[in-house]
Amino acid sequence: MKYTVLSLFPEIIDTFFTASIMAKAISRGIVSYRSINIRDYAFDKHKTCDDAPYGGGAGMLMMPEPLSQALAAAGAKEADKRVIYLSPSGRLLTQDLAKDLSREQELILICGRYEGIDQRVIDIYVDDEVSIGDYVLSSGETAALALIDATYRLLDGVISHESLDEESFSGGLLEYPQYTRPEIYDNIQGQMRVPEILLSGHHENIRRWRLKKRVEKTFANRPDLLRNGIKKGLFDEETRKIIDELSGITEEL
Ligand code: SAM
Repeated sequence: MKYTVLSLFPEIIDTFFTASIMAKAISRGIVSYRSINIRDYAFDKHKTCDDAPYGGGAGMLMMPEPLSQALAAAGAKEADKRVIYLSPSGRLLTQDLAKDLSREQELILICGRYEGIDQRVIDIYVDDEVSIGDYVLSSGETAALALIDATYRLLDGVISHESLDEESFSGGLLEYPQYTRPEIYDNIQGQMRVPEILLSGHHENIRRWRLKKRVEKTFANRPDLLRNGIKKGLFDEETRKIIDELSGITEEL
């Protein structure tokens, strides 16, 4: 998978590719990356990339020409590339969308600044507008990093399949609570023990306990996911039974 990031501040993005799991993915040839500084395609001596919006209104907009020149240099119209504009007006980045995007050969990501970009660039070049959540950031770089992080970790060879199988959102549920050593943790509230069942060594009981905890946590924090899972028939019989057993859950949903 190749990531091409178009930005007015590529240095914000660049460091992400030099550390930790991402650096390993690059050294193994699973991921490659290039950043393009949109300002390099500005055509006046001040390297201007923004101007006031037609029709009035607050703030400035990114001008179409430098951005479209940068997109042309990135080969944005080539068939194996998917162009994404990070935008609060885009469709929401979910785990399903991250999976879909992780199957692409190359993602070209446009990071907006100011009040965003000229609509004509979206009309010509952009395949998807993607939002990372219902809030407004000051720039697209942090959103691009969230999208890159959510997608590259799904590529074969980056992290183990086992880690991905039971984490949040897999099978329509959030993850179960996790514990590590020490078994008894002395803290400001006194002593806290690891749940007994996790020390039992009984794999089947542990699996069932974790599934129950996943359902409880999803109900508490994201009942919309449970509703959605029921509607789409995502849950197997065992999960449905747990949902039904948890008193009143289905009615409350
Ligand atoms: N005027 C825009 C609006 O009201 O929708 C907000 C522009 S925002 C201040 C500047 C840039 O930040 C956007 O062009 C976009 O690239 C990025 N951005 C802000 N919030 C975002 C979000 N929730 N998801 C993805 N990108 C976001």
